Amino acid sequence: MPKLFVIAGHGAGDPGACGNGYTEAERVRALAKRIKELGGGNVILGDLSRDYYRDNGVSTLNLPGEYEIVELHMDAGVPTARGGHVIIYSGYQADDYDKALADMLADILPGRSQMIVDRGNLANPERAAMRGYGYRLVEFGFITNAEDVKVFNSRMDDIASEVLAAFGIKTGNKTGGENMGCILSVEGTKTQYYFDGQSVHPFTNGKEKTVIKKVCNGITDSIKLTKDELNDLKNVLKRS
Ligand SMILES: [Zn+2]
Repeated sequence: MPKLFVIAGHGAGDPGACGNGYTEAERVRALAKRIKELGGGNVILGDLSRDYYRDNGVSTLNLPGEYEIVELHMDAGVPTARGGHVIIYSGYQADDYDKALADMLADILPGRSQMIVDRGNLANPERAAMRGYGYRLVEFGFITNAEDVKVFNSRMDDIASEVLAAFGIKTGNKTGGENMGCILSVEGTKTQYYFDGQSVHPFTNGKEKTVIKKVCNGITDSIKLTKDELNDLKNVLKRS
């Protein structure tokens, strides 16, 4: 299963397309945050204050090989035009992730006759290809179409979950009430701990931390405690 790097299109002063009272930059940031909230540790959220197109951010990314990139956009057109689609770099074959995203869009935001298109004249697909990253730019419907905007807003959680599912990433609890614990670090010490909600377990090496992060979907990393707080926590847990 890959991990996901999410880029929200436009931003840094560029609103992108506008329609139905919304800007593209704002809407795709709302979706990007939801993908991160539901995907937890399997998702890196790109810097939302940046415009990765204008500042050429894709060319300077330094992602581990396990990461796939998805860049979020919404289309603009005549008011009747609707539907989402997936854009990949010209000459590339759609992979299973692209196909799963296209299937999701055909289901939730239908309207396009071609669900996956290749384009050679867009900067970021080309930059990602040059860097060897798995990348796709996804248009989540038309911001200029009232029905698409309504679906985008009302089904944002479904869309976010399905984006994650396309990459095989299970979503955390949607209400955020339950999670798989957290990783604690303690002021003045190098030891980190895994707290599973019932017990505190020290890690003896970095590999252990890595595997816990791998198996615990949505785990919260690096909550910092003082030594006193760690002792308080341990004391609470001793009581039955
Ligand atoms: Zn756009």
